[in-house]
Amino acid sequence: MDAFRFPGLPTRVVFGHGTLAEVPREMEALGRRRAVVLSTPQQRGQAEALAGLLGDRAVGVIAEAVMHTPVAVTEAAVARVRALDADCVIAVGGGSTTGLGKAIALRTDLDQIVVPTTYAGSEMTPILGETRDGAKTTQKSQKILPEVVVYDVDLTLGLPAGLTATSGLNAIAHAVEALYAQDRNPIVSLMAEEAIRALARALPVIAAAPQDRAARADALYGAWLAGACLGTVGMALHHKLCHVLGGSFDLPHAETHTVVLPHAAAYNAPAAPEAMARVARALGAADGPQGLYDLAASLGAPTALKAIGMPEAGLDRAAEAAVANPYWNPRPLERGAIRRLLDDAFHGRRPDAAV
Ligand code: NAD
Repeated sequence: MDAFRFPGLPTRVVFGHGTLAEVPREMEALGRRRAVVLSTPQQRGQAEALAGLLGDRAVGVIAEAVMHTPVAVTEAAVARVRALDADCVIAVGGGSTTGLGKAIALRTDLDQIVVPTTYAGSEMTPILGETRDGAKTTQKSQKILPEVVVYDVDLTLGLPAGLTATSGLNAIAHAVEALYAQDRNPIVSLMAEEAIRALARALPVIAAAPQDRAARADALYGAWLAGACLGTVGMALHHKLCHVLGGSFDLPHAETHTVVLPHAAAYNAPAAPEAMARVARALGAADGPQGLYDLAASLGAPTALKAIGMPEAGLDRAAEAAVANPYWNPRPLERGAIRRLLDDAFHGRRPDAAV
């Protein structure tokens, strides 16, 4: 056993069916009395239902969260939160809503309760990405990490099929990169392998039967584990590429992760054979990168960047950006090989088997 550091998992987690009903108790346990409930405009109904459940412990609803956490939206929300004299925020939704809650907490130090409804995993991380005038910056702070996360499987039953597949693969991407992270440790590696296993088992069942409660529970359990991996160890090439493609070409978040993952894994496979063997084992596949590609294809998820809005003329610029200020990666970043990786991802080619 190599030496390692395990920083711990400080967020309190409540997991189950119907756990939304426990939010008032969780708020009380934090000693909070005046919550603002956050959501996207699309999920306003869910936010208002939670505010109804909280009764006079809810002082307002802000249903204005949007993708990439624009600073202007956050600043308007902080002004509302202060005017309402709120003492905590409760985010109901996916990574976009969680992002708004984190951005408010960073500026006000208010406690956060998150009720996730996708598999993005942001709720388990001390990381916040924000955009100002189209430029994205990412920061890390313990102020950003939510205090309590309430996973209610019932809220995920209606997650649309397309987002279920891509959000699930987004979660798997956190776990794959955790297995070869520079600061990996045995606990996080166990969580990562189990996350991939749970999601790979659940997603095909959900694709056939979206209301399958046991499969939905498995998927959300996997998403929690994957989010904890993302929050605990460093990410590498895959997350860097997705950051570049999302930031510079405005590609959709979960879809970009879905398309890039098999190719980033194939790039790293020669330098991370043990991690890739664990990915393959968790997928029940002969080869990790090919297994990831086949899972996405079998779910009907996108497999090509050209299908999700990437211009072919942008591939050179993306390769340049990927090798500039690179994250640590198990295999050194070579511009030519990254450009070929992007070409494979652009056309949606199945990666070669790792040798
Ligand atoms: P999202 O939060 O943008 O949700 C996509 C859409 O689906 C929204 O309209 C949302 O309201 C809707 N939706 C969510 N759950 C639903 C449900 N159960 N039923 C019906 N509709 C539902 O998408 P996402 O993929 O969860 O999050 C992406 C964002 O999160 C990106 O901005 C990304 O950068 C960020 N993110 C951050 C971290 C982090 O650690 N900081 C981690 C992962 C993702």
